[in-house]
Amino acid sequence: ATAIQSIDDVKNEALQAFSKEFDGQGADYCVCAPGRVNLIGEHTDYNAGFVLPMALPMVTIIVGKLNGTNNCTVVSTSKSITTTNKAEFDVSIRAEIKPGEPKWANYMKGCIANFPGNVPGFNALVVSTVPMGSGLSSSAALEVATYTFLEAITGIQSKNLREKVLACQKAEHEFAGVPCGIMDQFISVMGEEGQALLLDCRDLSVTLVPMGNIRDHVFLITNSNSPHKLSFSAFRERRDACYDAAKMLNKKSLRDATMEDLEVLKNQGASEIMLKRVCHVINENSRTIAATAALQSGNYIKFGKLMNDSHDSLRDNYEVSSPELDTLVNAARKVEGVRGSRLTGAGFGGCTITFLKKDAVDEVIKSIKESYNGKASFYIATPSRGARVLECKR
Ligand code: ADP
Ligand code: MG
Repeated sequence: ATAIQSIDDVKNEALQAFSKEFDGQGADYCVCAPGRVNLIGEHTDYNAGFVLPMALPMVTIIVGKLNGTNNCTVVSTSKSITTTNKAEFDVSIRAEIKPGEPKWANYMKGCIANFPGNVPGFNALVVSTVPMGSGLSSSAALEVATYTFLEAITGIQSKNLREKVLACQKAEHEFAGVPCGIMDQFISVMGEEGQALLLDCRDLSVTLVPMGNIRDHVFLITNSNSPHKLSFSAFRERRDACYDAAKMLNKKSLRDATMEDLEVLKNQGASEIMLKRVCHVINENSRTIAATAALQSGNYIKFGKLMNDSHDSLRDNYEVSSPELDTLVNAARKVEGVRGSRLTGAGFGGCTITFLKKDAVDEVIKSIKESYNGKASFYIATPSRGARVLECKR
């Protein structure tokens, strides 16, 4: 598996790059925010349901310094950027901050536009170990890191963490044009070491789920390196099927639906496709609650089985898997010591997550390499801390 760079290493890299980029100056502020992986609860967020993510040891770090002007200059060292990696924009009048080019800077601009206080001009440098566009939420890591950076340079702390989470989500909606759910920003802000986070997307209540006792088990993330191309139309078709079904049932959302409602929908002439989508959402919510309990009580066999069921339903009912993801999952499941394996994130590409005994990791990697035609990368993920300010020295 790929060794994950330590936070200190990433920070040092960022401080060095900052100084190189900005005439040998040192940075005064340093923050970090993690990517995330969703353990279970897929396509439930926009149906007011449950999700169970954990924060990753892969992070986005921003280092920077006030520059005494009304302008911001931000540079990202990411090799995945195909346009210019430097963006400059004016922050003197907040209402005039608008999305533009390069697109990647819109995630940062959106946070500035939604920040509850005036933002002075700054120079900043962004370094990230979260792979971009793989479903591990490099986007939320960038937003949450940016917002945390703004808190640091202005001294304005958000009144509560929820305000921060919502401002970051709004930045993605309005500046990046991505109609994302709320999970990614929540876990990037609130993650704790050794714990997953059960989020109720209906009332936004959160419960930390300690799993310090997973002992000889680990999570293995496999990146298919086939970018998650959940085209907006495929996403919208599924979302609308869910919303329409809730409307037909006279319910606010599918969160309030039960398996009996499938019969009701059928009698109202719902399509076979709609019934499959609804079936996934209802069962996925139950699975997420059951999986939380299983994880907490150390019932790893059950937890793994629920992960498998989640994948199978995403493949057969929600129809968001892909041949690549199915191959990765099947190759992992063949190996002894694997408790469960599923696609994670929206689907159609991106990553899988496998829960397994530590000593089965090598065998799983071998099994995947034997049956997967693409080039997969592997990360061992431990539940990590959410966003924070770091000491700004090497
Ligand atoms: P994911 O969140 O699953 O990684 P998204 O498509 O939601 O995929 O977000 C990826 C986008 O976020 C990138 O295309 C880029 O615009 C932006 N982004 C994320 N991390 C960085 C970074 N370190 N530097 C510049 N842009 C980034
Ligand atoms: Mg994203």
